[in-house]
Amino acid sequence: MSDAKDDELTCSRCRNEVRESDEFCPHCGELFADGVMCENHHERVADGVCIVCALPLCRTCGGLVSGRFLCDRHSTYEIYEGMVRVYGVLDDLAAQYAKTCLEQSGFHPMIYCRSQPKGGPRFVYTLYRAAGDYDGHVINEIKVMVPCAEVVEAEKILAGLTIAQGNGT
Ligand SMILES: [Zn+2]
Ligand SMILES: [Zn+2]
Ligand SMILES: [Zn+2]
Repeated sequence: MSDAKDDELTCSRCRNEVRESDEFCPHCGELFADGVMCENHHERVADGVCIVCALPLCRTCGGLVSGRFLCDRHSTYEIYEGMVRVYGVLDDLAAQYAKTCLEQSGFHPMIYCRSQPKGGPRFVYTLYRAAGDYDGHVINEIKVMVPCAEVVEAEKILAGLTIAQGNGT
């Protein structure tokens, strides 16, 4: 595996680094194996793999959203640099609590907020810090985000917590 010769593997679609053992690109969902069938349609060849739930799907069941292959269910999820929003709330204590619970279960959550710099054309994501950093920024919510591959399990943990449910979109 790690005889370090020429093992700079990159995804043919998104050009991000991938491992030789990857069956699909964890960044964009490009499927590397041939002849994989859609999870829902066993007679149809899969077109990609949802990077959140890791299911191979045909083009009816999934598709590219901003360059990433996602199933219908996960196509509306907020994704930023490989991190997916699993919980959003205005109360930073609730966000911290959710993060702590996820960490204790072995996940790798990070807290972000998305803000719009005054006069700026776009929203930007920043790692959440203590209040006071936001001069000139509009906060809409505090987001707990986990790596793509942890979303499905992390949601099960969150569903069991007695925290105010963020009103998901
Ligand atoms: Zn890729
Ligand atoms: Zn999915
Ligand atoms: Zn399908």
